[in-house]
Parts: sequence; C-alpha cells; structure tokens
Amino acid sequence: EWLYYNYKKKVNLILLEVLINKEEFKGKVVLVTGASRGIGKAIAIELAKCGASVAINYNSNTRLAKNTLKSVRSYGVNAEIIKANVSEEKEVKYLIRETEKKLGPIDLLITNAGILHVPKDVLDLDYKIWKKIMSTNVDGTLLPIKEVIPGMIKRKFGRIVCISSIAGLGKRPNMITYATSKASVIALARNLAEAVAPYIRINTVAPGLIETDMAKAFSKETKKNIILNTPLKRLGTSEDIANTVIYLLSEQSSFITGQTLIVDGGKVVLP
Ligand code: NAP
Repeated sequence: EWLYYNYKKKVNLILLEVLINKEEFKGKVVLVTGASRGIGKAIAIELAKCGASVAINYNSNTRLAKNTLKSVRSYGVNAEIIKANVSEEKEVKYLIRETEKKLGPIDLLITNAGILHVPKDVLDLDYKIWKKIMSTNVDGTLLPIKEVIPGMIKRKFGRIVCISSIAGLGKRPNMITYATSKASVIALARNLAEAVAPYIRINTVAPGLIETDMAKAFSKETKKNIILNTPLKRLGTSEDIANTVIYLLSEQSSFITGQTLIVDGGKVVLP
C-alpha cells in the first residue's frame, strides 16, 4: 500500500510538472497569507520551486516564518517574511506596501490565513469567538484582495486564490461559526469574479481535512472516521492543496474564474 501510494504521488507530481509550464511563474511576485506553516507554507515552497518571488505573511510565530523563509530561499528566489494580522485593515495596508516595496507589484495573491474553532457544545455560539473567526477568515480574505485589485487592474494582470473549506459547502452543525466564515469566502470570490474580469481571475479551493496543526482540533477517532468516509482512503496533505493552487494560478486554468475546486479525496460525493 505504501509503495502504491508513493508511486501514485510521484506520477501525479510528474504529470503536474508536464501540465504546468513552471516558467510562467518565474519572476512573478506572490503574496501568501498565513504562510509560516501548514498549507500556506507548502504553497510558498511550491511557488518558489517555480521561480516566483515570495512574500510570506504570518501573524505571531516569527521562528516558524523564518523556517519557511529558509526553505523558500533555498530555491534561489527573492523572498521576505512580513508580520501582519490580516484581520486589521492598517496591518494589511502595511503588508501590501512592504511586499511591493521589497519584491515589486503583486501578481498573485493567495488568501490562506485562517483559524478554526470547534465548540464543545453546538449551541455555544460565543459572540467573541464569532467575531474573531469572522474577522480572521472573512475580513482577512477581503482586505488583502481589496488592496491588490486596483494595481492588478492597472497592470491588466492578476490571479487570486482563496482558501475556503468543504465546511463552507453543505452543512457542519458542529462548527457553525467556522462553516459560516468559509461559506462567506466562497461567496466573496464568486461574486467578485465578474467585477474583476477579464484581467483578474479569482477562484477558491475547498480542502477536506488536511494534516496540519489545524487538524489537531480533531481526535484520532474522528480522523479515522473521516478516512473511512473518504473514497481515496486518506487525509489530505498540504502539498495536495498547494498543487491545486498552482493549477488555478496557472494558464492551464485560463478559462476558470469564480469557481470552487473541492480537494477532499471525494468525501463530499458520499451521502
Ligand atoms: P495552520 O496550520 O493553523 O496555519 C495557519 C496559518 O495562518 C499560520 O501561518 C498562522 O500564522 C496564520 N494566521 C492565523 N491567523 C492569522 C492572522 N490573523 N493574520 C495572519 N496570519 C494568520 O492552518 P492550515 O491548516 O495550514 O490552514 C490554512 C487555511 O486552510 C485556513 O484558512 C484553513 O481554514 C484552511 N483549511 C484547512 C484545513 C485543514 O484541515 N487543515 C481544511 C480546510 C481548510 P501564525 O503561526 O503566525 O499564527
């Protein structure tokens, strides 16, 4: 099983290399929010492999952000870490200013920073927590997008990918606040797509459960059940999501905008 899994992974990687012309990202400036660890880190590294200049945003953990920076720079690209809370307008303005000052005008934006809360009681709709999740996940998606759009329109080029979740589709009664925030991300991208076209494309990725720090909120038992209820019989990896993001940023997806791509091993196709 292990051999088969690794063989499949290698074949997928080779296919991706053939499909995506990695040259197209060379010298492009990309900002990834929440890139100190997890999915954001994997996206930053994959884009560095393609030769992009990478701005690595984070909120609190400078040590981890520096680790990401080291990995990204090992591919010989320009990169910077920039600390900013994506839910604060002033800090986001600073984040965009610093990125453009240090690396140049932003071509590609990935709004990935996000937080999860799983309440013990379904009806424990704590308003303080609601505001924190909404401001990080929803304001934190809107604010960077709002700041980069005028420049992208002026330069007639821009690609934006927002990270939502399958929690934002269907229903998740055990995490109402998080699910609502992720549904808002999907709605935001879908409704913006027409207004920013034709030079800017904006799409959303909806991952299933991915093995990162965030997944620690779930017990081993829950994870086992999720794997059982997933046709592809595993949890997702940050690289699964990074590869999808690269596809949506690339010219291979040049006729796709306003869409949500589900990356969950087929979980949502089950009843
Ligand atoms: P993670 O491992 O917890 O990492 C979260 C990242 O976001 C960190 O780099 C963190 O920086 C940053 N961050 C958090 N709040 C921030 C803020 N206010 N401003 C700027 N940066 C902030 O999470 P992940 O699993 O990689 O998740 C990434 C995205 O995928 C999230 O939007 C999440 O909702 C979504 N997602 C995850 C899963 C999953 O199963 N993991 C499934 C579906 C969707 P610091 O370390 O500095 O705080």
